[in-house]
Amino acid sequence: MSDCIFCKIINREIPSKSVYETEKVYAFHDINPEAPFHVLIVPKEHIGSHNELTPDNVGIMKDIHLAANEIARQLGIAESGYRLINNCGADAGQTVFHLHYHLVGGKSMGTKIL
Ligand code: AMP
Ligand code: ZN
Repeated sequence: MSDCIFCKIINREIPSKSVYETEKVYAFHDINPEAPFHVLIVPKEHIGSHNELTPDNVGIMKDIHLAANEIARQLGIAESGYRLINNCGADAGQTVFHLHYHLVGGKSMGTKIL
């Protein structure tokens, strides 16, 4: 998608701080971190939101979740804990419409969201 900021990051048209990359997934530091570690994990294929997952493309979720495990280990927060969050749509506050998971950790986050 030519006007998608995360597609531009994946294509290196916009700079980012890379954390992890495979053939299918890219992860980079969030520009506005909410915690000591705040990484965004995105599929390289443009998928607008969780709503756009289908039987044909949902296999990417395996890659995203395994990426999250590996990144948490690399950052040293696998044992202390972290949140893996997807915001889908306006009511959830989604601002970038390219599927992404926030991996947030490195501090006690206190009250649970749910
Ligand atoms: P969401 O609100 O769930 O759609 O999350 C979008 C996230 O993308 C926010 O946490 C932003 O801080 C982050 N973000 C937006 N632009 C960039 C960028 N150029 N580099 C890194 N993170 C970004
Ligand atoms: Zn995109």
